[in-house]
Amino acid sequence: MKCPACGNIEMVTKIQDETLTYSGQSLTLHSMKGNFCPVCDEGIWDEESYHRYTEAQAAIVRAVKGNVSADIRRIRKSLKLTQTELSEVVGIGKVAFSRYERGETKPPNPLVILLKLVERHPDLLAEIGYQHEKRHG
Ligand SMILES: [Zn+2]
Repeated sequence: MKCPACGNIEMVTKIQDETLTYSGQSLTLHSMKGNFCPVCDEGIWDEESYHRYTEAQAAIVRAVKGNVSADIRRIRKSLKLTQTELSEVVGIGKVAFSRYERGETKPPNPLVILLKLVERHPDLLAEIGYQHEKRHG
């Protein structure tokens, strides 16, 4: 087998652990088998390992998205705001906001960071323009 990246003909068969990381989550796959190029480090998984790799990749993305949407919902509830109210505060459409909470769309990182800050320091809500008194007027 020839290396698809550099053309080296001496690919080495190896069994090793492979760690996937995505947005701060990581997952380790054990006994992953593949052919590796000692020259450029390119690797090709065998069929079974490749299948496990793609499954794990999908699972970790789902886990991260699920966590983030649960975080957003939890933070909003702790602030006692409706989706409409919080979406107005942060200047995001309420449709988009509800997609973030349902995990249909990945929320932008700056929004997640902002909400995490506000969760720890709820008084910051006033700083970014939210006042309970203004809600109905
Ligand atoms: Zn190579």
